Amino acid sequence: MLLYNSLTHQREEFVPNVPGQVKMYTCGPTVYHFAHIGNLRTYIMEDILEKYLRYCGYQVLRVMNITDVGHLSSDADTGEDKMLKGARREHKTVMEIAQFYTDAFFADCRKLNIKIPDIVEPATSCIPEFIHLVEGLLEKGYAYLAGGNVYFDTSKLDEYYVFNKHEAENLVVGAREGVEEDENKRNKTDFVLWFTKSKFEDQELKWDSPWGVGYPGWHIECSGISIKHCGEYLDIHCGGIDNAFPHHTNEIAQSEAYLGHKWCNYWFHVLHLNTTSGKMSKSKGEFLTVSLLEEKGYDPLVYRFFCLQSHYRRSLVFSWEALDNAAAAYKKLVTRVASINDKDGTVNQEGMERFRTEFHDALGNDLNTSLAITVLYNVLKSDLNGSTKCALIQEFDEVLSLGLWSAACRMREEMAQKEKETETVSAEDQFIVDAIAARAAAKKAKNYAEADRIRDELKAQGITLIDTPQGVKWSRD
Ligand code: AMP
Ligand code: ZN
Repeated sequence: MLLYNSLTHQREEFVPNVPGQVKMYTCGPTVYHFAHIGNLRTYIMEDILEKYLRYCGYQVLRVMNITDVGHLSSDADTGEDKMLKGARREHKTVMEIAQFYTDAFFADCRKLNIKIPDIVEPATSCIPEFIHLVEGLLEKGYAYLAGGNVYFDTSKLDEYYVFNKHEAENLVVGAREGVEEDENKRNKTDFVLWFTKSKFEDQELKWDSPWGVGYPGWHIECSGISIKHCGEYLDIHCGGIDNAFPHHTNEIAQSEAYLGHKWCNYWFHVLHLNTTSGKMSKSKGEFLTVSLLEEKGYDPLVYRFFCLQSHYRRSLVFSWEALDNAAAAYKKLVTRVASINDKDGTVNQEGMERFRTEFHDALGNDLNTSLAITVLYNVLKSDLNGSTKCALIQEFDEVLSLGLWSAACRMREEMAQKEKETETVSAEDQFIVDAIAARAAAKKAKNYAEADRIRDELKAQGITLIDTPQGVKWSRD
């Protein structure tokens, strides 16, 4: 598989450390608010990567953290903890907020057919591991104590700006949300590993440490949780592009300084979902959620379909018009899948291979999801028999996870139900037709009392008979 690696700025053949096995780490959500559909774009594309690797036969271990402490308002370690902001906004404790939004995040993932990673670990449950890492960094001379906090000393590295070599001077720490200088830092790019003193003394969650009561920095969480579960060698690290700097840059600095060797070979970054007025962001407070899409009548899988239609390394602009187009295309696709006769013939393995090759050509080339969807259409258009088409659609959808087969089955059931209703109506009509015939027979036999009785009986049921020159017509009240 060819995969673009942000570290080398090129597409490379993916080769894991251990043949057949992939260790994959994903930066999880900061659970102080609902995930917005931009965050979920990143998780959808990471989900496709994981599922495609599994489809290729790799045994994948995927680990994700939940950031429930230490992610400050600015990525430059300033401002208050985002979790505390959330707790204050909702008059709840930080742990209540964390639980609520973690559950909400996974509920969204389920609706979008995003698989839950094999291991999900909240940062607050790994404090001893983080302390251990920070101790190691101090021992090796990569960290220093200043003003009560422990900092990573970036001047000790041969190379700090691993992702953006040529743009070092353009990168400002905390580019996401403004910068405040921290006078304790020896170098502008140094970052906090452990806080005991920040300007925000009311931090709710604190733990004892060799440096005093405090809490971990955001970056150390991901190094700590990744090393805990994936060991010293990681194959793929994922996240949204805004994580590349400073978060992932700092993760690499501290992990490699601690381990003494290269840590992760491939860095997978998803570009942002933007609105027409700019980046969708939780901290701005105005953002779209999966629940909001549902309230407006969209199936969450339509949003997944919308995301798969564009490449993960291109930023994507969200608009309602674009989502409507995706909804119409998705419905058409489901209708076509529903019309396959899955009992037609037996599965043709040779026919399947042909399309499997096309599917690999698409996803194996840096995850070209829109081309993979084109392969689905090619299957539908092909001259393969119904069973083979059906087998292929189901197989490919294990990776794409658009819920095509279940949506098609639902559509078939709805169509069958409608047909049944039509049949029921015509059975009733038949009863009226029969009654009209019986009345005509009674009239012919001059049994007018019986003819009137039939007419009155129908009337009692709300059916009026009208004698016209063209015959008897009827209407319902
Ligand atoms: P957060 O909950 O802010 O820690 O972000 C969770 C994930 O969403 C991270 O991988 C971010 O890089 C990613 N992310 C944040 N904003 C966007 C966006 N507008 N589009 C796509 N991914 C995003
Ligand atoms: Zn992270």
